[in-house]
Amino acid sequence: MTLRSTASARAKVRIGHLYGDLLNLYADRGNILVLTRRCEWRHIAVEVVSIGMGDRIGSGEFDLLFMGGGQDGDQQFLGDDLFRVKADGLRGAVHDGVPVLAVCGSYQLLGHYYDPGTGPRLAGLGIFDMHTVHPGRSVRRCIGDVVVDWIGAPVRSPRSVVGFENHGGRTFIGSGARAFGRVVSGNGNNGEDGTEGVVQANAIGTYLHGSLLPKNPHLADYLIGKAVSRRTGSAKLEPLDDHLEWQAHQTILDRRASHVAPVAGRVKLPWGSAR
Ligand code: GLN
Repeated sequence: MTLRSTASARAKVRIGHLYGDLLNLYADRGNILVLTRRCEWRHIAVEVVSIGMGDRIGSGEFDLLFMGGGQDGDQQFLGDDLFRVKADGLRGAVHDGVPVLAVCGSYQLLGHYYDPGTGPRLAGLGIFDMHTVHPGRSVRRCIGDVVVDWIGAPVRSPRSVVGFENHGGRTFIGSGARAFGRVVSGNGNNGEDGTEGVVQANAIGTYLHGSLLPKNPHLADYLIGKAVSRRTGSAKLEPLDDHLEWQAHQTILDRRASHVAPVAGRVKLPWGSAR
């Protein structure tokens, strides 16, 4: 386990990055950079701890956990470790309300199972009440930009979330979980039921790569707010100058505009606040 302390000795937000070397499709580690910088810009001390094969997750050890996407082979390779070494710590963290962001391949492994279509079914941790089935190599993959209407968006927050998907697996959520969002453009969980991702407690599973958070500062702050408020009781974060982030966000919205049902017009760009 490697420790990179980037701020004062007393860390306020400790981020656990699971399998960073294995699960990093489409630069998903960019999400860690965004979370780290948005804490530092607010003078919130932050540590990023790489959690690799064989590393356990201790109770109360982390304030935020992140897992990225991976190919079927990567998922098979780490499956045993995920079950034998990580399962209790991850389940405990979710139960304790730790914010978790799991993207694509890791999202799939936190459900009941992932059936990759070829090779053995991969058992999941059952944290998310959902399952995933790959319909076979001859069936088109879900690839492209995605626009989502974030169902649980905080009040006064923009509701659109944008990203990029590339997955063969189709995910179907059960009655015990709720969707992260409604697909406005793209495929989302399965290209059929209009859902994208899943939410259970403060854990979010999503197919959105990109990486996701640089173009969705409101979602990054939502996760940071959850982590900080578990420690301090308050989630009031100093506003940042996010005009570049929102320009990147709007670019995806505009790019998908011809495929998009009207989603409350253009995103209101929160200009001006100093970084
Ligand atoms: N291997 C999984 C699939 O194809 C997840 C891919 C990913 O993480 N982008 O569905």
